[in-house]
Amino acid sequence: IATVAPFGGEAGQPAVAALITIHDESEQHRALEMRTDFVANASHELRTPLASVRGFIETLQGPARNDEVAHDRFLKIMAEQAERMTRLIDDLLLLSRVEEKANLNPTGQVRLSELLNEVVRALTPVSEERQITITVEPESSPLVAKGERDELFQVFHNLIENAVKYGRVGGSVKVHLRESERDPSKKRVAVTVTDDGPGIAPEHLPRLTERFYRVSTEHSRRIGGTGLGLAIAKHILTRHQGELSVDSVVGRGTTFKVSLPKYK
Ligand code: ADP
Repeated sequence: IATVAPFGGEAGQPAVAALITIHDESEQHRALEMRTDFVANASHELRTPLASVRGFIETLQGPARNDEVAHDRFLKIMAEQAERMTRLIDDLLLLSRVEEKANLNPTGQVRLSELLNEVVRALTPVSEERQITITVEPESSPLVAKGERDELFQVFHNLIENAVKYGRVGGSVKVHLRESERDPSKKRVAVTVTDDGPGIAPEHLPRLTERFYRVSTEHSRRIGGTGLGLAIAKHILTRHQGELSVDSVVGRGTTFKVSLPKYK
């Protein structure tokens, strides 16, 4: 889109209006391209489990019609695939709701230690299944963040759930809450979520918040997430003037850090 049209530009005057138009068009073009990619990726992600369900239906109607053992096994797989589609659709809807609000400033106030303890309680069934101990430190703190409670719940839920899902069975997840050390004006708070799991190789780190990006390990594949959790977290944090960063050592573990503006 390089049509420089210096309309209104009299001799000696810069064609500011023309520059603004060009910027707008390329932004729009990029947004459209991203949307097209997103729809293509989302369709592909939904098509895969759907194709698997259709394949099993055909097998059950045909060759495996009278095979009771195959019936049980295939129905179990079909139920899992249907569950995967539900998870994908739920996450896609959540992402689009978050995007819709991208330009609204959050106004609420959230007591972070209460919120974090609530997230941990909600994740008890998953952490017990993997025998992982989650601790929140300090358990009670007066720190309050500026933001929408439900959305921040979602951010910490995604991060702590990942630490449990990808962490080491029998390991520990530590959640720390404090005033941001790097902020001398003390206007920000920082929450870190640290696991002692397998870690993430450095080449993946910059791409983790891309939609549908998943690190392909045997364990990740078995877990079958949607690849949208960190993209959702990043979107919510952007609208909250928050930041998300990650630090990981393969074989040692991973720390995700969230920083948020304090409420007063
Ligand atoms: P998913 O639904 O796959 O969990 P996310 O966007 O939440 O999607 O995470 C993207 C990928 O980042 C995951 O598939 C996983 O490979 C990797 N990941 C996220 N958190 C961790 C962690 N704590 N330890 C190891 N890998 C992680």
